[in-house]
Amino acid sequence: MAAKLIDGKEIARVKQGFIGDEVQKLKANGITPGLAVILVGDNQASKTYVSNKQKTCNKLGMYSLLIELPKEVSEEELIRKIKELNENPDIHGILVQLPLPVHINEKVIIETISPKKDVDGFHPINIGRMMTGQDAFVPCTPFGIMEMLDYIGADIAGKHVVVVGRSNIVGKPSGQLFLNEDATVTYCHSKTADLKEHTRRADILVAAVGKAGLITEDHVKKGAIIIDVGMNRNHEGKLCGDVDFDGVKEKAGYITPVPGGVGPMTITMLMYNTLKAARSAQSKH
Ligand code: NAP
Repeated sequence: MAAKLIDGKEIARVKQGFIGDEVQKLKANGITPGLAVILVGDNQASKTYVSNKQKTCNKLGMYSLLIELPKEVSEEELIRKIKELNENPDIHGILVQLPLPVHINEKVIIETISPKKDVDGFHPINIGRMMTGQDAFVPCTPFGIMEMLDYIGADIAGKHVVVVGRSNIVGKPSGQLFLNEDATVTYCHSKTADLKEHTRRADILVAAVGKAGLITEDHVKKGAIIIDVGMNRNHEGKLCGDVDFDGVKEKAGYITPVPGGVGPMTITMLMYNTLKAARSAQSKH
Protein backbone atom coordinates (compact mmCIF):
# COMPACT_ATOMS: atom_id res chain seq x y z
CA MET A 1 0.00 0.00 0.00
CA ALA A 2 1.44 3.33 -1.07
CA ALA A 3 -0.94 5.63 0.81
CA LYS A 4 -0.64 6.43 4.50
CA LEU A 5 -3.77 5.72 6.47
CA ILE A 6 -5.48 8.63 8.23
CA ASP A 7 -6.63 6.90 11.37
CA GLY A 8 -9.83 8.68 12.39
CA LYS A 9 -10.27 6.48 15.45
CA GLU A 10 -6.88 7.44 16.82
CA ILE A 11 -7.28 11.15 16.03
CA ALA A 12 -10.73 11.06 17.67
CA ARG A 13 -9.24 9.38 20.75
CA VAL A 14 -6.64 12.14 21.13
CA LYS A 15 -9.17 14.92 20.58
CA GLN A 16 -11.68 13.33 22.97
CA GLY A 17 -8.96 13.15 25.62
CA PHE A 18 -8.54 16.92 25.32
CA ILE A 19 -12.32 17.51 25.40
CA GLY A 20 -12.71 15.27 28.48
CA ASP A 21 -10.04 17.31 30.32
CA GLU A 22 -11.76 20.57 29.42
CA VAL A 23 -15.10 19.17 30.63
CA GLN A 24 -13.52 18.43 34.02
CA LYS A 25 -12.27 22.02 34.26
CA LEU A 26 -15.74 23.38 33.52
CA LYS A 27 -17.27 21.01 36.05
CA ALA A 28 -14.84 22.29 38.68
CA ASN A 29 -16.42 25.69 38.00
CA GLY A 30 -19.91 24.29 38.51
CA ILE A 31 -20.90 23.80 34.87
CA THR A 32 -21.60 20.40 33.31
CA PRO A 33 -21.91 20.66 29.52
CA GLY A 34 -25.32 19.28 28.58
CA LEU A 35 -26.51 17.94 25.23
CA ALA A 36 -30.18 17.26 24.46
CA VAL A 37 -30.93 14.91 21.59
CA ILE A 38 -34.43 14.68 20.17
CA LEU A 39 -35.29 11.46 18.38
CA VAL A 40 -38.57 11.32 16.47
CA GLY A 41 -39.89 7.89 15.47
CA ASP A 42 -38.11 4.55 15.49
CA ASN A 43 -35.68 4.59 12.54
CA GLN A 44 -33.08 1.98 13.46
CA ALA A 45 -30.08 3.84 11.99
CA SER A 46 -31.10 7.05 13.81
CA LYS A 47 -31.43 5.11 17.08
CA THR A 48 -27.88 3.77 16.69
CA TYR A 49 -26.46 7.25 15.93
CA VAL A 50 -28.27 8.74 18.93
CA SER A 51 -27.12 5.99 21.27
CA ASN A 52 -23.48 6.50 20.15
CA LYS A 53 -23.78 10.23 20.78
CA GLN A 54 -25.15 9.61 24.28
CA LYS A 55 -22.43 7.08 25.10
CA THR A 56 -19.70 9.49 24.00
CA CYS A 57 -21.29 12.32 26.02
CA ASN A 58 -21.29 10.16 29.14
CA LYS A 59 -17.75 8.93 28.53
CA LEU A 60 -16.51 12.54 28.41
CA GLY A 61 -18.38 13.49 31.60
CA MET A 62 -21.11 15.50 29.91
CA TYR A 63 -24.81 15.45 30.72
CA SER A 64 -26.96 13.89 28.01
CA LEU A 65 -30.71 14.12 27.78
CA LEU A 66 -32.61 11.96 25.30
CA ILE A 67 -36.09 13.00 24.30
CA GLU A 68 -37.94 10.36 22.31
CA LEU A 69 -41.10 11.39 20.51
CA PRO A 70 -43.50 9.19 18.50
CA LYS A 71 -43.37 9.46 14.70
CA GLU A 72 -46.89 10.98 14.72
CA VAL A 73 -45.78 13.95 16.85
CA SER A 74 -46.98 17.26 15.40
CA GLU A 75 -44.63 19.96 14.18
CA GLU A 76 -46.12 22.31 16.82
CA GLU A 77 -45.37 19.87 19.63
CA LEU A 78 -41.79 19.44 18.44
CA ILE A 79 -41.34 23.21 18.21
CA ARG A 80 -42.72 23.58 21.76
CA LYS A 81 -40.20 21.00 23.02
CA ILE A 82 -37.27 22.77 21.34
CA LYS A 83 -38.32 26.14 22.74
CA GLU A 84 -38.39 24.59 26.21
CA LEU A 85 -34.83 23.33 25.71
CA ASN A 86 -33.74 26.75 24.38
CA GLU A 87 -34.69 28.13 27.82
CA ASN A 88 -33.22 25.27 29.88
CA PRO A 89 -29.94 26.41 31.53
CA ASP A 90 -28.72 22.82 32.02
CA ILE A 91 -28.77 22.24 28.25
CA HIS A 92 -26.03 23.86 26.16
CA GLY A 93 -26.47 21.94 22.93
CA ILE A 94 -29.63 20.78 21.13
CA LEU A 95 -29.63 18.27 18.33
CA VAL A 96 -32.65 17.03 16.42
CA GLN A 97 -31.75 13.74 14.75
CA LEU A 98 -32.51 13.86 11.03
CA PRO A 99 -34.30 12.75 8.93
CA LEU A 100 -37.67 13.77 10.37
CA PRO A 101 -41.04 12.30 9.29
CA VAL A 102 -42.32 13.95 6.09
CA HIS A 103 -45.13 15.89 7.82
CA ILE A 104 -42.52 17.93 9.72
CA ASN A 105 -40.65 20.75 7.98
CA GLU A 106 -36.94 20.24 8.76
CA LYS A 107 -36.03 23.82 7.89
CA VAL A 108 -38.56 25.20 10.37
CA ILE A 109 -37.29 22.84 13.08
CA ILE A 110 -33.64 23.74 12.51
CA GLU A 111 -34.47 27.44 12.69
CA THR A 112 -36.32 26.93 15.98
CA ILE A 113 -33.12 25.80 17.72
CA SER A 114 -31.35 28.74 19.32
CA PRO A 115 -28.22 29.50 17.22
CA LYS A 116 -26.33 29.54 20.56
CA LYS A 117 -27.29 25.89 21.16
CA ASP A 118 -27.10 24.72 17.54
CA VAL A 119 -24.23 22.25 18.02
CA ASP A 120 -24.94 20.58 14.66
CA GLY A 121 -24.17 23.92 12.98
CA PHE A 122 -27.17 23.68 10.64
CA HIS A 123 -28.92 26.94 11.61
CA PRO A 124 -28.71 29.54 8.81
CA ILE A 125 -27.15 31.99 11.27
CA ASN A 126 -24.26 29.63 11.97
CA ILE A 127 -23.90 28.78 8.28
CA GLY A 128 -23.82 32.50 7.42
CA ARG A 129 -21.29 33.19 10.15
CA MET A 130 -19.09 30.34 8.94
CA MET A 131 -19.30 31.59 5.34
CA THR A 132 -18.24 35.07 6.37
CA GLY A 133 -15.33 33.74 8.42
CA GLN A 134 -16.84 34.59 11.83
CA ASP A 135 -16.90 32.44 14.93
CA ALA A 136 -19.67 29.84 14.48
CA PHE A 137 -20.76 26.32 15.26
CA VAL A 138 -19.29 24.43 12.32
CA PRO A 139 -21.14 21.31 11.06
CA CYS A 140 -19.51 18.29 12.68
CA THR A 141 -18.51 16.19 9.64
CA PRO A 142 -16.76 19.02 7.72
CA PHE A 143 -15.19 20.17 11.01
CA GLY A 144 -13.92 16.62 11.61
CA ILE A 145 -12.39 16.52 8.12
CA MET A 146 -10.44 19.73 8.80
CA GLU A 147 -9.23 18.35 12.14
CA MET A 148 -7.92 15.20 10.44
CA LEU A 149 -6.02 17.26 7.90
CA ASP A 150 -4.61 19.45 10.65
CA TYR A 151 -3.49 16.33 12.54
CA ILE A 152 -1.48 15.02 9.57
CA GLY A 153 -0.06 18.51 8.96
CA ALA A 154 -1.55 18.85 5.48
CA ASP A 155 -0.97 22.12 3.62
CA ILE A 156 -4.28 23.53 2.42
CA ALA A 157 -3.51 27.06 1.22
CA GLY A 158 -3.13 27.13 -2.55
CA LYS A 159 -4.12 23.48 -2.95
CA HIS A 160 -6.86 22.35 -5.30
CA VAL A 161 -9.66 20.71 -3.33
CA VAL A 162 -12.42 18.83 -5.14
CA VAL A 163 -15.55 18.08 -3.14
CA VAL A 164 -17.90 15.50 -4.65
CA GLY A 165 -21.36 16.12 -3.17
CA ARG A 166 -23.10 19.40 -2.34
CA SER A 167 -25.44 18.61 0.55
CA ASN A 168 -26.06 21.34 3.12
CA ILE A 169 -24.63 19.19 5.91
CA VAL A 170 -21.46 17.79 4.31
CA GLY A 171 -20.47 18.86 0.80
CA LYS A 172 -21.23 22.59 0.82
CA PRO A 173 -19.81 23.41 4.26
CA SER A 174 -16.70 21.26 3.59
CA GLY A 175 -15.88 23.29 0.49
CA GLN A 176 -16.48 26.51 2.39
CA LEU A 177 -14.06 25.54 5.16
CA PHE A 178 -11.38 24.77 2.57
CA LEU A 179 -12.04 28.12 0.92
CA ASN A 180 -11.66 29.81 4.31
CA GLU A 181 -8.23 28.12 4.48
CA ASP A 182 -7.23 29.58 1.07
CA ALA A 183 -7.71 26.46 -1.04
CA THR A 184 -9.07 26.60 -4.59
CA VAL A 185 -12.30 24.65 -4.45
CA THR A 186 -14.30 22.74 -7.07
CA TYR A 187 -17.69 21.25 -6.26
CA CYS A 188 -18.98 18.24 -8.20
CA HIS A 189 -22.47 16.74 -8.01
CA SER A 190 -24.87 14.46 -9.85
CA LYS A 191 -25.07 16.81 -12.86
CA THR A 192 -21.30 17.23 -13.22
CA ALA A 193 -20.50 16.33 -16.83
CA ASP A 194 -17.16 14.55 -16.47
CA LEU A 195 -16.46 13.72 -12.85
CA LYS A 196 -13.02 12.21 -13.49
CA GLU A 197 -11.80 15.27 -15.31
CA HIS A 198 -12.25 17.25 -12.08
CA THR A 199 -11.30 14.68 -9.45
CA ARG A 200 -8.02 13.84 -11.21
CA ARG A 201 -6.84 17.40 -10.65
CA ALA A 202 -7.48 17.28 -6.90
CA ASP A 203 -4.66 17.59 -4.38
CA ILE A 204 -7.31 16.87 -1.76
CA LEU A 205 -10.41 14.90 -2.77
CA VAL A 206 -13.49 14.72 -0.53
CA ALA A 207 -16.10 12.12 -1.51
CA ALA A 208 -19.47 12.78 0.14
CA VAL A 209 -22.00 11.09 -2.10
CA GLY A 210 -23.36 7.83 -0.69
CA LYS A 211 -22.43 5.54 -3.61
CA ALA A 212 -20.11 2.63 -2.91
CA GLY A 213 -17.11 2.44 -5.24
CA LEU A 214 -17.89 5.70 -7.11
CA ILE A 215 -14.28 6.92 -6.81
CA THR A 216 -11.83 4.52 -8.41
CA GLU A 217 -8.08 4.65 -8.94
CA ASP A 218 -8.79 6.30 -12.28
CA HIS A 219 -10.40 9.31 -10.55
CA VAL A 220 -7.36 10.09 -8.43
CA LYS A 221 -4.10 12.00 -8.91
CA LYS A 222 -0.97 10.24 -7.68
CA GLY A 223 -0.12 11.32 -4.13
CA ALA A 224 -3.50 13.01 -3.46
CA ILE A 225 -5.17 13.09 -0.04
CA ILE A 226 -8.44 11.16 -0.17
CA ILE A 227 -11.18 11.81 2.39
CA ASP A 228 -14.01 9.30 2.17
CA VAL A 229 -17.18 10.51 3.90
CA GLY A 230 -19.55 7.97 2.35
CA MET A 231 -21.29 5.38 4.52
CA ASN A 232 -22.74 2.60 2.44
CA ARG A 233 -23.43 -1.11 2.73
CA ASN A 234 -21.90 -3.37 0.08
CA HIS A 235 -23.54 -6.59 -1.23
CA GLU A 236 -22.26 -8.49 1.81
CA GLY A 237 -23.80 -5.90 4.13
CA LYS A 238 -20.38 -4.56 5.14
CA LEU A 239 -19.93 -0.85 5.83
CA CYS A 240 -17.95 0.87 3.07
CA GLY A 241 -17.30 4.35 1.73
CA ASP A 242 -17.61 6.01 -1.69
CA VAL A 243 -14.00 5.22 -2.55
CA ASP A 244 -12.73 1.91 -3.93
CA PHE A 245 -10.24 1.68 -1.06
CA ASP A 246 -8.13 -1.23 -2.36
CA GLY A 247 -7.54 0.33 -5.78
CA VAL A 248 -7.11 3.94 -4.66
CA LYS A 249 -4.75 3.22 -1.76
CA GLU A 250 -2.04 2.18 -4.23
CA LYS A 251 -2.05 5.62 -5.85
CA ALA A 252 -3.03 8.12 -3.14
CA GLY A 253 -0.69 9.81 -0.68
CA TYR A 254 -3.12 9.59 2.24
CA ILE A 255 -6.51 7.93 2.60
CA THR A 256 -9.22 7.62 5.26
CA PRO A 257 -10.70 4.15 5.85
CA VAL A 258 -14.40 3.34 6.26
CA PRO A 259 -15.16 2.50 9.01
CA GLY A 260 -12.66 4.22 11.28
CA GLY A 261 -12.14 7.42 9.28
CA VAL A 262 -14.49 10.40 9.16
CA GLY A 263 -17.22 8.73 11.29
CA PRO A 264 -15.44 8.88 14.68
CA MET A 265 -14.42 12.48 13.97
CA THR A 266 -18.02 13.59 13.36
CA ILE A 267 -19.15 12.51 16.81
CA THR A 268 -16.02 13.98 18.39
CA MET A 269 -16.68 17.41 16.89
CA LEU A 270 -20.25 17.25 18.19
CA MET A 271 -18.76 16.86 21.67
CA TYR A 272 -16.38 19.74 20.96
CA ASN A 273 -19.27 21.97 19.86
CA THR A 274 -21.20 21.11 23.03
CA LEU A 275 -18.16 22.01 25.14
CA LYS A 276 -17.85 25.29 23.21
CA ALA A 277 -21.56 26.08 23.82
CA ALA A 278 -21.15 25.39 27.55
CA ARG A 279 -18.06 27.60 27.73
CA SER A 280 -19.80 30.54 26.12
CA ALA A 281 -22.80 30.09 28.43
CA GLN A 282 -20.34 30.20 31.36
CA SER A 283 -18.62 33.35 30.15
CA LYS A 284 -21.97 35.17 30.32
CA HIS A 285 -22.27 34.59 34.08
P1 NAP B 1 -26.90 13.60 0.19
O1 NAP B 1 -27.63 14.70 0.86
O2 NAP B 1 -27.66 12.46 -0.40
O3 NAP B 1 -25.99 14.25 -0.96
C1 NAP B 1 -25.31 13.47 -1.87
C2 NAP B 1 -24.61 14.34 -2.88
O4 NAP B 1 -23.95 13.52 -3.83
C3 NAP B 1 -25.55 15.24 -3.68
O5 NAP B 1 -25.02 16.55 -3.75
C4 NAP B 1 -25.61 14.60 -5.06
O6 NAP B 1 -25.75 15.50 -6.12
C5 NAP B 1 -24.24 13.97 -5.14
N1 NAP B 1 -24.21 12.85 -6.09
C6 NAP B 1 -25.08 11.83 -6.22
N2 NAP B 1 -24.69 10.99 -7.20
C7 NAP B 1 -23.55 11.49 -7.70
C8 NAP B 1 -22.68 11.08 -8.75
N3 NAP B 1 -22.89 9.97 -9.45
N4 NAP B 1 -21.60 11.84 -9.01
C9 NAP B 1 -21.34 12.96 -8.29
N5 NAP B 1 -22.13 13.40 -7.30
C10 NAP B 1 -23.24 12.67 -7.01
O7 NAP B 1 -25.84 12.93 1.18
P2 NAP B 1 -25.02 13.52 2.44
O8 NAP B 1 -25.94 13.69 3.59
O9 NAP B 1 -24.16 14.65 2.01
O10 NAP B 1 -24.09 12.26 2.74
C11 NAP B 1 -23.18 11.75 1.79
C12 NAP B 1 -22.61 10.44 2.29
O11 NAP B 1 -21.88 10.69 3.48
C13 NAP B 1 -23.65 9.38 2.66
O12 NAP B 1 -23.12 8.10 2.40
C14 NAP B 1 -23.80 9.55 4.17
O13 NAP B 1 -24.22 8.37 4.82
C15 NAP B 1 -22.38 9.88 4.54
N6 NAP B 1 -22.23 10.65 5.78
C16 NAP B 1 -21.26 10.23 6.62
C17 NAP B 1 -21.02 10.92 7.79
C18 NAP B 1 -19.94 10.45 8.68
O14 NAP B 1 -19.86 10.90 9.81
N7 NAP B 1 -19.04 9.58 8.24
C19 NAP B 1 -21.79 12.05 8.11
C20 NAP B 1 -22.77 12.47 7.22
C21 NAP B 1 -22.98 11.77 6.03
P3 NAP B 1 -27.08 16.42 -6.34
O15 NAP B 1 -26.95 17.54 -5.35
O16 NAP B 1 -26.97 16.88 -7.74
O17 NAP B 1 -28.25 15.52 -6.07
